[in-house]
Amino acid sequence: MTSKDRTKYNLVMEYSGNSNGSYDAVVIGSGVGGSACGAILAAHGFKVLILEKNPRIGGSCSYYEKDGFKIDIGTHMFIRGNKGPIGVCTRRLGMGTPIEFRRTRDIAWVRGFNVDVRLPASLLRLPFFLLHVYLQARFPVTAIPRILQMLYRMLTMTPAEIEQWDRRTVDEFILSYTRDPYIHSLFGLLLGLYFVLPPWSASAGESIWNLQSFIKDYNLGYPRGGAVAVPQTILNGARSHGATVLTNTAVQKILVENGAAVGVAVPGGIIRSPIVVSTTSLEDTIRLAGKEHFPLPYRQQVQDIKGSLIAVQAKIGLKKKVTGAGCVCGVYPRQVPRENLTRENMLTNFVLLQSGRIPQFTPIYCPIPTNFDSSLAPPGRQLLTACAIAPTTDVTLQDPPEAWIEKMLAALYELIPGVKENVLFLDTFTVQDLADWIGKSSGAAITTAQTPDQVGAKRPGHLTPIKGLYVCGDNAGARGVGTELACQSGMDCADLIHRQRRQYPIGDS
Ligand SMILES: Cc1cc2nc3c(=O)[nH]c(=O)nc-3n(C[C@H](O)[C@H](O)[C@H](O)COP(=O)(O)OP(=O)(O)OC[C@H]3O[C@@H](n4cnc5c(N)ncnc54)[C@H](O)[C@@H]3O)c2cc1C
Repeated sequence: MTSKDRTKYNLVMEYSGNSNGSYDAVVIGSGVGGSACGAILAAHGFKVLILEKNPRIGGSCSYYEKDGFKIDIGTHMFIRGNKGPIGVCTRRLGMGTPIEFRRTRDIAWVRGFNVDVRLPASLLRLPFFLLHVYLQARFPVTAIPRILQMLYRMLTMTPAEIEQWDRRTVDEFILSYTRDPYIHSLFGLLLGLYFVLPPWSASAGESIWNLQSFIKDYNLGYPRGGAVAVPQTILNGARSHGATVLTNTAVQKILVENGAAVGVAVPGGIIRSPIVVSTTSLEDTIRLAGKEHFPLPYRQQVQDIKGSLIAVQAKIGLKKKVTGAGCVCGVYPRQVPRENLTRENMLTNFVLLQSGRIPQFTPIYCPIPTNFDSSLAPPGRQLLTACAIAPTTDVTLQDPPEAWIEKMLAALYELIPGVKENVLFLDTFTVQDLADWIGKSSGAAITTAQTPDQVGAKRPGHLTPIKGLYVCGDNAGARGVGTELACQSGMDCADLIHRQRRQYPIGDS
């Protein structure tokens, strides 16, 4: 720490937000990743402080209230519910599985690329779903054996085989089975969508791993109380193990002395801690600690990290229920001449998107929280949380932000009949709005995207070149979809710190 820092952060004054001055570990961020890391560290016996810059906890899973509605800041469904890392986390905290993940009869209404089908919550109805997809898509009969082989292969790959596919894309995987452009577009979109990436960017191994977990658990759902119920419950577990959680407390700087983290600076002063865990992006973590503390190769690696795409969002309060599906996933326009569904067209679409232009096809993802928990809105009302894919903040938009939002709304009105006529309120969010809330400069949905060079053995780890400074959340470690990736990463990071500190107890230099 420089003498300028000492003056700036008023080192003579300990932080007044908590009377107990210093901690074993400070966690920056109360999203799912920070909550899980802080809670498991506390369960391991560490004296933990979790700092959140926003007035409410939860990061991407946070919420706001309006006209009796409780509205998610992000746009979420939870792939594995209590069968995945979130359930593991609450069980490890000794809470059992208090988060109630709910399901609807039709878990998703899939509309686009000339199909209009409902994904059932019951596995028994799944064959009918697949039959409908087949009949509506009118796949050539000759393609069926290859599709079945591809699906069978994805579901039966061993972990070692999955690892071999880590370094290749979904696009390459599908092409090794079929060159039919329509089948390619449909499967490519479905497999990449989980990671907010197009098929030529998403890792095949990561996608296959995810598909296997999805089918094995078959538990896609949404938590009672809204998405925030996940970090909130985990933070309750953290508190029960003695952790402290402070909101409205932005970390302005990670303090480093002699190559080791020694605490953080916040508006009221400094907080001392030999362990600091950051859940913001790696780039923002370097900025917080000061780039002079990191060796050049590490800085270059971080500079080369790619984030996923992100989305513009709309939160819509409706006068009445217009659909019973848990979520609507679709592409606008819904009907597309088959000859236009080519791999080249899809590629052009994403090149357009990544150059800041509104693409021809608009993928829409719209969870409907009130269909899982009616208490999230006044009686009889419905809440839609929609989003449409958009580039991160580092791409200069050629089409203005309002045009992206207009296109999303046009797509939504087409995909879900009855929305436009029943709007009570309509709140829209640009990519920058979300980036400001989560405090990650690029605003990427997944800050270290699951591309072939950033998954499995090549994923950034939790350690940094600064002793005592760790990273976790969707920026480092683990596998899986968004929230579950972040939760697993948080737990893994806490376990790593615990193992290291058993070897070199706190206080040792
Ligand atoms: C539009 C959208 C749709 C998504 N859909 C899904 C989905 O359907 N299913 C799914 O599983 N995942 C989904 N995700 C991804 C998922 O939300 C994230 O991957 C996951 O929630 C990230 O958790 P995290 O803890 O790593 O980070 P975040 O939730 O981003 O939390 C980071 C926290 O750190 C805080 N912070 C940052 N800087 C500071 C600072 N200096 N001081 C103090 N606090 C700070 C932020 O305020 C924030 O609360 C979606 C994401 C988006 C944006």
